[in-house]
Formats: sequence, C-alpha cells, structure tokens
Amino acid sequence: MGERVAGPEIERLIQLLARLPGLGPRSARRAALHLIRKREELLAPLADALRAACEKIVTCRACGNADTCDPCTLCRDERRDRDTLVVVETVADLWALERAGVLSARYHVLGGTLSPLDGIGPKDLNLASLVERVAADRVKEVILAVNATVDGQTTAHYVVGLLADSKVKITRLAHGVPVGGELDYLDEGTLAAAIRSRTVF
Ligand code: ZN
Repeated sequence: MGERVAGPEIERLIQLLARLPGLGPRSARRAALHLIRKREELLAPLADALRAACEKIVTCRACGNADTCDPCTLCRDERRDRDTLVVVETVADLWALERAGVLSARYHVLGGTLSPLDGIGPKDLNLASLVERVAADRVKEVILAVNATVDGQTTAHYVVGLLADSKVKITRLAHGVPVGGELDYLDEGTLAAAIRSRTVF
C-alpha cells in the first residue's frame, strides 16, 4: 500500500492546496491539518467563500479585472480619475498597484505580454480594446505599468506604437533603486537604469 494517511476527501484537499502558489506538498499538509482542526471557524466559512466566489467571479469587459460584478468595482467608482489609464500585464499587478494606494486611476489589464517564443502575439492580448478605450474615453495619460522584463518592455514598445496616432501622453514607471535599497547590492543593469532615469532633487 502507499503512504496514504487519510481518506480520499482529505487527500484531495491536500492535493489541491499543494497547487496553490507558495505551497508545496509539505505546507499543503500543514494547511489541511489546520483547516481540519478549525473546522467550524475556518474550513466551513472557507468552503462557503470558495463556492460563492466560484459562482460569481467574472472578467470586467471594460478593463479585464477579475471581480464579482461587470463592470468591476474599480470601473464603477465615479471618484476615479477618468483621464488616466494604467496599463498592467495581469490582475495581480493591478492589485499590487492598488495596495500601493497612490493612484486613483482606472486600469487596463492586457492579460499577459507579447512573447513570440511562447507564441503569444498581439491578438492574444487586450490591445484592440485599449486603443478603443483611449479614443472613446478621451484618456489624457496612459501609464505603462508593465514589468521591467524583456517581454514587458517589448509589449510597452508595441503599445506606444499602437497609440502613436492618438494624442495621449504615454508615461512608464521609473526603473531604478528600490525604496530602502543599497547601491552596493544592486546589479549593474538596475544601477544604469537608475542613473538614466535620474530626476531633479
Ligand atoms: Zn473594470
């Protein structure tokens, strides 16, 4: 016989938990045990929350965000700046920027980056709808908040080309020294980018 220590329902729970980012088989077992011990306070409410989310999650047709309503909560928020559109690769990036709490703009989720090696071309991303939105909503500034990776920057250049005919101002996130970072620990590429993107003190 194998090393099975629990019934199929619990084994299945562990297998599924182990697929979550940041959880390996060992931490999945620990999480499953914790849930089993806290059956009433945690396992049951979590099961309800998962089911409710599973039934209601939709992709916002305006911006590509994941939410339980379409248009999403951010697109419905009238207090948000309508002149600025922040272009991100994924919903995770959108949420990260929201956590930073410095922008009150609207977003546009591309759904990935251009990656010829992986066969991801312009038609696989939400690019046509970006051009439409910029024109229809009279957006004044597009902030390219894409990753500082080769694919991210390739995608940024492509977006700049797509929007070349519109009068919109296009900006990108600064590249350089992280907050609290020490120069001695930075790689040469980051240091060079920081010097190139220096600002007036
Ligand atoms: Zn939305």
